[in-house]
Amino acid sequence: MKNLETTLIHQGNQYNTTKAVVTPIFQTSTYLADADLSAYIEAATATKHPAFYHRHGNPTNSQVAELIATLEKTEDALVLATGMAAISTAILAIVKAGDHIVAQHAHYSGSTLFLKEFLSDYGVEITHVDQTDNEAFEAAIRPNTKLIYVETPSNPNLDLTDLAFIGQLGKRLGITTMADNTFASPINQTPHDFGIDVIVHSATKYLGGHSDLTAGIVCGPKAYIERVWQRSLVLGASLSPFDSWLLLRGLKTLALRVRQINENALALATWLAENPLIKRVRYTGLSSHPQYELACKQMQGFTGMICIEIDGKNEEEEFLRAQTILSRLKLFINAASLGGVESLIVHPASMWGAHHSSTQKQNAGITRGMLRISVGIEHIDDLIADFQQAFAGL
Ligand SMILES: *Cc1c(COP(=O)(O)O)cnc(C)c1O
Repeated sequence: MKNLETTLIHQGNQYNTTKAVVTPIFQTSTYLADADLSAYIEAATATKHPAFYHRHGNPTNSQVAELIATLEKTEDALVLATGMAAISTAILAIVKAGDHIVAQHAHYSGSTLFLKEFLSDYGVEITHVDQTDNEAFEAAIRPNTKLIYVETPSNPNLDLTDLAFIGQLGKRLGITTMADNTFASPINQTPHDFGIDVIVHSATKYLGGHSDLTAGIVCGPKAYIERVWQRSLVLGASLSPFDSWLLLRGLKTLALRVRQINENALALATWLAENPLIKRVRYTGLSSHPQYELACKQMQGFTGMICIEIDGKNEEEEFLRAQTILSRLKLFINAASLGGVESLIVHPASMWGAHHSSTQKQNAGITRGMLRISVGIEHIDDLIADFQQAFAGL
């Protein structure tokens, strides 16, 4: 592999068979058949053929997949229409009725719903464990366990899973391991280095990076990606040509963006931690994080995700203050999602209100005074000043 910055600009460019320097948008559902019918048969059956019919493949999708597989150090990858399409298709390519999955208490809300409600309707059993407890993963393994599914850092509390432990456990017992690497991005963490077999992403977040598309990716061994692709043919969540082109464009600056975001987030987290209005700052790059040592071991950078808890006399005051701060912030946009060039902030207890019971929120460590921040690439002085004016008089 070339150096990261070079890979981001050039990897997969052979899929651009035109003379255009920038890969065009192949906005077509279907492709001209080869006059030689045996070649056409080959195109119709080849995995991810980039020029047969869109659900099978598209040149930009192939370029994006090769690029991200290189970043994640896996043999192959498949892009899909959303992060949830990637996660659900990736899991459905591994488990069937009668199988068992070990997963965490805290996952992205859509993943939790998929594991807990969707898969259990189809006869797949799940055990949820505390991700910070290595032994809990091992104790949950059964003879029919086919998958260990992890997410680190997790949403929204930024708890970490020990990737080397999980990778070794999976290898020792012959169980597939899969990690959602959305929060870290491959700039900050490459789970394959620790023996994780499959890496999934919501490319909607850091990989795309501009909050203008939805996409997902599954990275893993070639034979497995072929199975995921076969599942995707019937589930049908292909990534559109335009979103694929936007993703490719966004990826070119991934390293620049993520490094600036890491730097901004560390400065903001440090500033917030010193403010008396803040009860607790969770940031993987602060030594106050309970798993700071593990963060330093498995991450090269600490991401733009910060989770804060506002202090108050009681829970009600903490909630009201959080609400006031949200309404006063001008640069931090109150919106779901993360990983874009613009800073976003969200109140997790409200965002998850519709999907999760209070027990589930408690399990995921969500409190009413909690705010989750996704730091962007604005100037750090302006970001700090925005919080300063939002905190005034509280
Ligand atoms: C957003 C997100 C997803 C889901 O991705 P979509 O692109 O919204 O479908 C999955 N996992 C994590 C960690 C996410 O942040």
